[in-house]
Amino acid sequence: MLLRVIDIVAGTSVDGPHLRTSIYLAGCAHHCPGCHNPQSWDPHAGHEIAVSDLLDVIAREEMPVTLSGGDPLFQAEGIAALTRLLKDRHKTSSPPCRAWPWPGPTGRRWGEDPRGVGEADIWLYTGYRWEQIVATPRLLDAVSNVDVVVDGPFVQSLRDTTLLFRGSSNQRIIDVAASLASGTAIPLSLD
Ligand code: SF4
Repeated sequence: MLLRVIDIVAGTSVDGPHLRTSIYLAGCAHHCPGCHNPQSWDPHAGHEIAVSDLLDVIAREEMPVTLSGGDPLFQAEGIAALTRLLKDRHKTSSPPCRAWPWPGPTGRRWGEDPRGVGEADIWLYTGYRWEQIVATPRLLDAVSNVDVVVDGPFVQSLRDTTLLFRGSSNQRIIDVAASLASGTAIPLSLD
């Protein structure tokens, strides 16, 4: 399985809590006016990388992961495969594999997250709204092993530079497990 990737940035602090490995996927058809990265709309941008090679990069960096773009859900099948393998590897590693800090350069062990985000956390940014995701089986499959989804298009009139980890106030930071259990979008507590 291949994913088309524009960039990989290790140690970023803007795409979720803690230092993270952010992977920027090619392709987005939402075309939000004011998008910070319109070059990422091209589904042929960047390079193809095997899911197994991405797993190795993530393991080497020893940080939690953010999937952004573009919109990763335009490569839903590859994202489903990557996130499933990440979670499976975490569950079966004893001690946890290098992908999960024990401790890593962040200086913390999984389960010691002061924000309570939890172990092996994976964030995913998408221009789809949560309600669209859960109504579309292939999108739902892609987020089923993700911990947090930041949803919705960027809306220029709602742009707010004071917001944490999102660009406009319509976007929500969603706790995936709680939302799937309850049947409605549940915001993640970042306090
Ligand atoms: S969803 Fe994100 S990447 Fe896509 S157009 Fe909107 S702001 Fe840009």
